[in-house]
Amino acid sequence: MPIVPPLRNAPIIATKRLKRSENRRKTPTPMFAPPASPHARLSDQKANPVNPIPDFSRGQAFPGTSGLLPAIAQDVANGRVLMIAWMDERAWRETVETGQAVYFSRSRGKLWRKGETSGHRQRVEEIRVDCDADAILLKVQQTGVACHEGYESCFFRRVESDFSVNIADTRRLDPDSVYGKST
Ligand SMILES: [Zn+2]
Repeated sequence: MPIVPPLRNAPIIATKRLKRSENRRKTPTPMFAPPASPHARLSDQKANPVNPIPDFSRGQAFPGTSGLLPAIAQDVANGRVLMIAWMDERAWRETVETGQAVYFSRSRGKLWRKGETSGHRQRVEEIRVDCDADAILLKVQQTGVACHEGYESCFFRRVESDFSVNIADTRRLDPDSVYGKST
């Protein structure tokens, strides 16, 4: 009998990117599945068979979506908060599957593939979901700038104790080079 060599990728049990059909079948995805509790009773599991993470049923209602959850983009290198946007379930799935940040644009009413036309993309290095499973954190590697105003972060304005507002950051790009494009 021929000796079958071990598969090269044998130790890798779960891959991050699942095929679309697999992803749809499994909720939650293995990547975010909570660890099985030894104390969980079978009856509990039957009563609550799925525990979707993130839970879009907790999202803000918006026509044509599964509900919108806030998604924060954070610079993976320095921890700076870059922006906040919204995700529906399609945006979420595409983000996980492609490793590129995809949001839902409320103003345009459709998916917003960040940087698709401007080139200011966000490569997703890590994804976290908060305790209530209703807020998403993306740790990203930002190409160019996050903000369509030409700043590194959308949070470039600082509010003082007298309610005056000052620009606290340096503009990195001429906004005209970003305006009119889908950032
Ligand atoms: Zn902005």
